[in-house]
Amino acid sequence: MVPSPVRLHQVTRWPVWSIPPRLLGAVLAVELLAVSLVVAGALNPPELDRATLVLLATLAVAGMAHTEIIAGVERVRRYTAETHHVNLTSVWTFASALLLPPVLGAVVVVVVYTHLYVRVLRPVPPPQRRPVFREVYSAATVVLAVHAAAGMLAATRPGEVYGALPEVLALILTLLTYTVVNTCLVLGVVAMSAPETPILRILFGGDELALELATLCLGALTAAGLAAGGPLVALLAIPPIIALHRTILVRQLREKADLDAKTGLLNHAAWHLRGSHALQLAERERRQAALLILDLDRFKEVNDAHGHLYGDQVLAATARVLREELRDHDLVGRFGGEEFVVLLPRLSGHDGREELRQVAERLRGRVSGTADGEPPTGGVGITVSIGGAVFPADGGGMTALLEVADSALYAAKRAGRDTVRIGPHPLRTPGAGPEPEPEPG
Ligand code: GH3
Ligand code: MG
Ligand code: MG
Repeated sequence: MVPSPVRLHQVTRWPVWSIPPRLLGAVLAVELLAVSLVVAGALNPPELDRATLVLLATLAVAGMAHTEIIAGVERVRRYTAETHHVNLTSVWTFASALLLPPVLGAVVVVVVYTHLYVRVLRPVPPPQRRPVFREVYSAATVVLAVHAAAGMLAATRPGEVYGALPEVLALILTLLTYTVVNTCLVLGVVAMSAPETPILRILFGGDELALELATLCLGALTAAGLAAGGPLVALLAIPPIIALHRTILVRQLREKADLDAKTGLLNHAAWHLRGSHALQLAERERRQAALLILDLDRFKEVNDAHGHLYGDQVLAATARVLREELRDHDLVGRFGGEEFVVLLPRLSGHDGREELRQVAERLRGRVSGTADGEPPTGGVGITVSIGGAVFPADGGGMTALLEVADSALYAAKRAGRDTVRIGPHPLRTPGAGPEPEPEPG
């Protein structure tokens, strides 16, 4: 295929213009500051002795070698990462901040990020491929972090503001400066672009911060090794980097394996495992818990009338509603087909059965759109039938609760659909007692 020539008018189609103006201002300000610092550094160039040039070349080449070695793993990581993506090249960029004048540190950043873009990011097909302006922004934040870290390091030299600090404290302070500047600039933009993003959970919930710090510690050790032992010491940093990459990839894939691709909810196996643990915990703490099974009504007709793709959209919209309506610690899963399951690990009120009924009615109302007037699934009238069971009153384990909730669901279907039923129902559970209480249709 012949690549089409870049024309000036196409500049207006760059994805960068699709970001909100408020955000665009902040992004451009950060990039402008990074460029200004580099230009100022270049106008006042540092002394380029042989040792400095060898360090510059070593860090740039090691950064590119790193990318070449992990390119395959890194591409898969880019496909699967859903949160803030820690970039392990900071081993080299942080070592540059410690060893080189900031303007040369910026050169290492530009070389490493350009090479990373060409080898890892560009080969990822859209829509997973991140637009190039995000990579430019990432590189700009790293350039600023390198300058801030170099500034902090300079301030800890003898005779400067923090000159009396022991060397290790100076190093820790520099490391924190680097990570705070970089993380705040990245997450600041995320917070501005999507205010609903759980920033603190991204930062402290996973291993991202620990990973970032581990990478920077490795960068500090590499810098010390390079200063003491020469360029080949850089080779010693490569095996730990590969091990880190693989460990993270395995964790990301494991997380992905727990999810149902169509709805983003837990899949059956993952839900069952986590739900069983939650029930064991509830039993130990003598708490009430509850389980709901939801089945979309006459879903086959929706598929027949509007097609399977539309049906899939309805499933995704239903999943969204369930996630919105339930609390973070409630476990929501796709049981299979058009059936969903919810485990509520704790009920807050005294009357668990009534509380569960209210939750289920709220879900039913939201799915069918009667709760707020607008069906979440667009024009087509979708309704859902829900069966529920309370722990431990209706059953002492997952299997017993599922059976009771399933019989209740069956009763809800028999009662005309778009209905909630809670507790044992004799329709499917011969020998089960009468309904525990009268229920509104
Ligand atoms: P009822 O009210 O009794 O539950 O009727 P129903 O039509 O919902 O129940 P039935 O079990 O007969 O049909 C379920 C339908 O769900 C059949 C199947 O085509 C559809 N379905 C299952 N999984 C998917 C899916 O992943 N995507 C789509 N679009 N449809 C699915
Ligand atoms: Mg079904
Ligand atoms: Mg159904």
